[in-house]
Amino acid sequence: EAVLPLPASTRIFTISNQKGGVGKTTSAVNLAAALARTGARVLVIDLDPQGNASTALGVEHRSDQQSVYEVLVGDLPIAEVVHRSTEHENLDCVPATIHLAGAEIELVSLVAREQRLRRALDAHLAQMESPYDYVFIDCPPSLGLLTINAFVAAREVLIPIQCEYYALEGLSQLLSNIELIERHLNPDLRLSTILLTMYDSRTNLAQQVAQEVRDHFPTQTLETIIPRSVRVSEAPSYGQSVITYDFTSSGSLSYREAAAEIAWRAASEQKESD
Ligand code: ADP
Ligand code: MG
Repeated sequence: EAVLPLPASTRIFTISNQKGGVGKTTSAVNLAAALARTGARVLVIDLDPQGNASTALGVEHRSDQQSVYEVLVGDLPIAEVVHRSTEHENLDCVPATIHLAGAEIELVSLVAREQRLRRALDAHLAQMESPYDYVFIDCPPSLGLLTINAFVAAREVLIPIQCEYYALEGLSQLLSNIELIERHLNPDLRLSTILLTMYDSRTNLAQQVAQEVRDHFPTQTLETIIPRSVRVSEAPSYGQSVITYDFTSSGSLSYREAAAEIAWRAASEQKESD
């Protein structure tokens, strides 16, 4: 397996799209696992009350457990809720519990309600001896305060786009929200990466959607496209990424390629700016 360049400092991604079922969680988990496998130290923060990312990483998220909910609403340090994933020794996860569903409303009345994840994460990274190379925040399918907290905590946005009809619908709303956040709450935020997912090469429609996305976002869209694959959808029920579940499958291969692209692109940008 190829060795990937590590970033000079922690790269913090939010995986966002207000649509459900487009591959946010799948992409967060599998990119994280792929990068951890190559030696990067990776944290996944599950910000969706459903806790699908926690499940897929083999991390328990029962309702009687402390989670990212207490971090957001109760000032609990992140270190108290970090779990080692069963997936890989370099891969950690901050789980979500169902209580997070109420956070959307509870946050409204709190001071600095948009900055709470940012503050907790920055404090956590600052006290780590060797901080993570990558943090992936898995967002719920909405543009509420949880997602805003992710936008404020992150430096990069990764948007998974499902290669199907209506794929681009709602995208302009997402983009204008990112712009608003950049202007008012987080000047460091940029849309760095678009990942085409659930691609079915047999349909013309999928090809058209992929081309349309590339036309709109020529620099952000990864070359690698994630195919629709049964192995990808089976893996979470075993508490595994597709990379562990079936290393040689097309889904595993494509997520490993996408991870390599993410690592190399930043490395060559870094070189250019040196
Ligand atoms: P989101 O987090 O955006 O709601 P998910 O990552 O949970 O989306 O994906 C939605 C559903 O599609 C899940 O059941 C997941 O297993 C399945 N899925 C995601 N990516 C693929 C893929 N490449 N091939 C087949 N099924 C996929
Ligand atoms: Mg999800």
